[in-house]
Amino acid sequence: MSDIAKIHYLPARIEGLRDLALNLWWRWDRDARTLLRVIDPALWSATRHNPVALLKQTEPARLAFLSENEEFLAGYDQVMTSFHAARETGGRWFGEAFPDLGERPVAYFCAEFGLHNSIPIYSGGLGVLAGDHCKSASDLGIPFVGVGLLYSRGYFDQRVNLDGWQENAAVEFDHANMPLERLAGPDGSYRLTTLRCGGRDVSIGAWRLLAGSTRLCLLDTDLEENHPDDRELTYTLYGGGGEYRLKQEWLLGVGGVRILRNLGVDPGAWHANEGHASFMMVERVREAVAAGTPLGEAVAQVRARTIFTTHTPVPAGHDVFSPDLMQAVCGDYHEGLGIDEPSFRAIGAHAGDTSGAFHMTGAAIRLARHVNGVSRLHGDVSQEIWKGMWPGREASHVPIGSVTNGVHLGSWMSHHFMGCLDQAFGPRWESVLQEPDAWDRVEDLSDEDVWRIHGRLKTALLAFCREQARRRWTVLGREASHLVGAGIFLSPEPLTIGFARRFATYKRGDLLFRDEERLRLLLTHSSRPVQLVFAGKAHPADDEGKRVLQRVWHATRDPRFAGRVAFVEDYDLHVAHRLVQGVDVWLNLPRVPKEASGTSGMKAALNGVPQISTVDGWWAEGFAGDNGWALPLVDGSPEEVDAADHRAVFEILEREVVPMYYERDRDGVPREWVRWMKQSIIVAGRFFTTGRMVRDYANRYYAPALRGERDGDDPPIMPEFVAEPVGRPVG
Ligand SMILES: *Cc1c(COP(=O)(O)O)cnc(C)c1O
Repeated sequence: MSDIAKIHYLPARIEGLRDLALNLWWRWDRDARTLLRVIDPALWSATRHNPVALLKQTEPARLAFLSENEEFLAGYDQVMTSFHAARETGGRWFGEAFPDLGERPVAYFCAEFGLHNSIPIYSGGLGVLAGDHCKSASDLGIPFVGVGLLYSRGYFDQRVNLDGWQENAAVEFDHANMPLERLAGPDGSYRLTTLRCGGRDVSIGAWRLLAGSTRLCLLDTDLEENHPDDRELTYTLYGGGGEYRLKQEWLLGVGGVRILRNLGVDPGAWHANEGHASFMMVERVREAVAAGTPLGEAVAQVRARTIFTTHTPVPAGHDVFSPDLMQAVCGDYHEGLGIDEPSFRAIGAHAGDTSGAFHMTGAAIRLARHVNGVSRLHGDVSQEIWKGMWPGREASHVPIGSVTNGVHLGSWMSHHFMGCLDQAFGPRWESVLQEPDAWDRVEDLSDEDVWRIHGRLKTALLAFCREQARRRWTVLGREASHLVGAGIFLSPEPLTIGFARRFATYKRGDLLFRDEERLRLLLTHSSRPVQLVFAGKAHPADDEGKRVLQRVWHATRDPRFAGRVAFVEDYDLHVAHRLVQGVDVWLNLPRVPKEASGTSGMKAALNGVPQISTVDGWWAEGFAGDNGWALPLVDGSPEEVDAADHRAVFEILEREVVPMYYERDRDGVPREWVRWMKQSIIVAGRFFTTGRMVRDYANRYYAPALRGERDGDDPPIMPEFVAEPVGRPVG
């Protein structure tokens, strides 16, 4: 399947559109996006902003017309010039900061990547963060290769039945409408490497996905020569049980390293984003041992070039595999390391667990010199959780750092706001943003402009909700009663609160419903009404989470709430963009300290949407007093904490948020509210973008890893057979 052939016809003068459509760079370049949209605005919207589908479906006559239209061609030529620069080398920052380190790329392994809604190989925050990381690596000019799996049945599409119970529908996964290019070996075969997995040799192929100068390599086992069960290994993200999952992680880690070798990629630093990718480190140790390096030295070499980021303090987020499963899947792999099977598993031992199970996070902490959590608070919590690996040490001296997450500015800030910021930053944002106080210029924007842009985005969100409802009613044949809950009664005037995230119980999506009468009074106030818009999926195996969703769902159809509670089905990147840009306030209620970082509030803030949140994750750093509200921290049983947080959030809403929002001057502008909107943008822009985040990774971790530096090594407890030489600087 040659992807170049997917887009059949393009006039020669605008042939470059094909390459543009096949590189996700268009997604975060305003001019490229505008160029694609004007090709056919209605089709652009109908394809949910998918340029491959757009170019395939546009009438040839329209393309011919555009290829002779002066205005279109001027835009086209300008976009192609920036595109070529971005595609070849990305931005200039890394080259200027580290002129000696441009040779070898950073390899970035992750089980999911959320780059665009047309490529459903992500489930939520982790994947979206990984996608944003790849985009910023390109913007900063870091040589960067992403490695993941191509889940050809995706995650799942959400359907909520008449009783509010989430049912999972298969995703429409249409390779032909995705910017994917299948890689073939020199012999033309799709098999790029093989891996012993579960007692069989599994052939692995790969697809290339481009995001600016970043390349992603997505593994695929759906090859004809494979056993039917093995062909399914790359079907679904987080599907199946423990064995399926272990096989996927085995594939990602070991298979991923082998594929890179076969493609001739020679990374100088290796970053595992979450423990799913830990086997990548093990395989590199095996390679070194196979090349004759003693095991202890092999481990030291691998550690020096490895970065590991842990993403959750919730135990279920850390994979643990039993000895039986490990034996069944990994077979005699340990022989390549020159050790026996129990010793192999000891690489993933966890203090206090004597079962012989393999802890993916434990293995990663042993084999990575650079370990970090994703907010300051989460860094501290991770030190506490993993201190057992440095016996006798105080948590505060455990060498686990933190790099607070961010979001990709160009992907998440509405281009209407970016247009407005042009007034503050001029045409060359990149150089202005290097100045420490650049973001303060946002204060000088006109209140009227900021308020007007927000109004446009809010109207667009409501129109989007109605269109979704219409589509589900007509195309999917949903019952008319479903429409009430889908947001058709939402209107532009009321204060609109957004809450969108995975329905995990610790995120407390139903906290507002603890006192329905108080909520009803808030929502249906005659002059100062409030609306709630929810979205989010529950993990397919999480019935508790599904019950929370169900509670919200019932509220959307409860006449007492007068159509002021809506649930938008099928939360994905496309829905997320509209929500974070179009609501007035963002609500975030995780039980402290379960939310490692959280990122949706940052996306909202970049669009001038203040947040109400418990002081967890990024909000412990991001709350500045006039960019949102923080619930007071309380101690107590979960029930006591829920009750106190429920009281606090209502007090904040009733006494502060609602009055401020409705306080308008003669021009109808809520001046104080707009001031808070601007502060939200300033704080998020300055501290919570992946531009800042990836620069932190580069300065603190990638640079020393690319240099192979070992001094200052501070190793955790190692299995005896490798403990001895580790940590001694060699050479
Ligand atoms: C940003 C995002 C998330 C993560 O949001 P959190 O605040 O971390 O819960 C999940 N899903 C989608 C589609 C997103 O865009």
